[in-house]
Amino acid sequence: MAENPPQPTIDGNTLVAKTLHHFGITHIFGVVGIPVTSVATRAVAEGIRFIAFHNEQSAGYSASSYGFLTGKPGILLTVSGPGCVHGLAGLSNASINSWPMVLISGSSDQRDSGKGDFQELDQISTVKPFSKFSAKPTSISEIPGSLLRALSRAGSGRPGGCYMDLPTDVLHQSVPQDEAMELIMKAENEIKKEEQEELSKLSSFAAIDEVEKAVTALREAQRPLVVFGKGAAYARAENELKKLVETTGVPFLPTPMGKGLIPDSHQLAATAARSLAIGQCDVALVVGARLNWLLHFGEPPKWANDVKFILVDVCKEEIELRKPYVGLIGDAKNVLGMINKVIKDNPFCLGSNHPWVEAISNKVKSNVSRMEGQLAKDVVPFNFFTPLRIIRDAISSLGTPAPVLVSEGANTMDVGRAVLPQMEPRTRLDAGTWGTMGVGLGYCIAAAVACPDRLVVAVEGDSGFGFSAIEVETLVRYQLPVIVIVFNNNGVYGGDRRTPEEVTGPHKADPAPTSFVPEAKYHVLIEAFGGKGYLARDPAELQSALDESFSAKKPAVINVIIDPYAGAESGRMQHKN
Ligand code: ADP
Repeated sequence: MAENPPQPTIDGNTLVAKTLHHFGITHIFGVVGIPVTSVATRAVAEGIRFIAFHNEQSAGYSASSYGFLTGKPGILLTVSGPGCVHGLAGLSNASINSWPMVLISGSSDQRDSGKGDFQELDQISTVKPFSKFSAKPTSISEIPGSLLRALSRAGSGRPGGCYMDLPTDVLHQSVPQDEAMELIMKAENEIKKEEQEELSKLSSFAAIDEVEKAVTALREAQRPLVVFGKGAAYARAENELKKLVETTGVPFLPTPMGKGLIPDSHQLAATAARSLAIGQCDVALVVGARLNWLLHFGEPPKWANDVKFILVDVCKEEIELRKPYVGLIGDAKNVLGMINKVIKDNPFCLGSNHPWVEAISNKVKSNVSRMEGQLAKDVVPFNFFTPLRIIRDAISSLGTPAPVLVSEGANTMDVGRAVLPQMEPRTRLDAGTWGTMGVGLGYCIAAAVACPDRLVVAVEGDSGFGFSAIEVETLVRYQLPVIVIVFNNNGVYGGDRRTPEEVTGPHKADPAPTSFVPEAKYHVLIEAFGGKGYLARDPAELQSALDESFSAKKPAVINVIIDPYAGAESGRMQHKN
């Protein structure tokens, strides 16, 4: 009698890849090695693009910002132990910024646990402070459920980081090929049921009487203000915000990554009159932005003592923490839709002659004209203003679609935020809620793959660039349209700023803790891999580098030499240092 042919099987690596593909994952960022190399190659075989980095930290920053830009969880794949620990940088960054991300890390064989196995670590405990949900399948059949749950939880409620552990032995187990799809479908149905139950427990829409209370406060305010942040950007609430601002005539203030939801050039933009707007408003509708350090905790002296806050946030705990006048829990797009509907039934509009609107507009005009005065000068050696003006004009000349702007560094980011306008939603990525430095190259790579129709322009300090400078090779390898402009002022804050009295002790001959090699040739670094490097010391050199690199849309580094004495220590946060 003829034997039945053996049934084809698949292993854990392939099941991970198939589950990711089934969920709709199109990109993975990571560093391969034992035991996850096959996870990456099988994912590629499923049609997923794997972007291979040199360092898990950069790959993790990529995955976190990819989550923000696309609204889908960014995936970071790492090896066990140290790879997982390096990946924590990205996972924590995602959680702190409220961006969806899943860290998938290989781990050592379960049978050898506790014996000092290769790269052994209790990874579930290690990721705990930064993970909304963690799962460790103990056998191959648990892979789809664990992974789909991590992917689903990363984006539900307040988005954040989740973790999936892949023990080596589980990756090597196998199941019959035709059972794989059944396992995935079964897990998906279970998770859908769980999600429904969760949704029915939460009221996903703010109560209408609270919405009416909020609208009444806005209508009765003498000096109302709309503030919006990256939560509103994540919610894709730009149309609702524009409608709200334009029907009511209320001035608005974006947070750094909220910039662009309504163009910075809008006549109701209070960005250039920030201190006046937050210092004197009497009712502030704050949408998708925490009243944390970036918004001075919503407290005096930056805010008025009796300001009434109306907070819109998807996270109930956030609203409970801040104890606002009105708290509206829900997705920003939905809640703003409700607010606009209530306003439509009984419309109001401040008009351009309203004293509050006029005060803000006058302040904006005078601050902008003062800034333009500084920007107009061609200062050489470069201060921060002259090169930023040249970069601003080059970016503006690109029109739409606007490039994604990545920014980090103390002075470079602070001054750049004021000078470089944001005209389209989700086109700015910066150090964010955690003030994370070293995010630049990772963010550039995420932006290039998430927004293929846009150029990516990074404006970074030399210190921020240095954290992950080797990833310029990744830019070249994938031929990503990324132009990295390095503001090179010889170190952190501008190199050695010590007074002679501070230079003492047995190691006084060492370079200062803030110093790097002066005038380092960062532009040559990318040329080692076949990219294009430019050195710019004056306006003509910078202009020519920008013209050429913006039209080539190929990986480039422009090394802009800045006067080391031009910036301030700690940028605009000197009080914290
Ligand atoms: P910013 O840095 O721009 O001030 P934050 O990161 O401090 O913004 O705040 C973003 C807030 O947005 C978080 O409290 C988060 O819970 C919230 N959020 C995230 N997604 C949504 C959404 N879809 N709708 C409303 N709020 C959201």
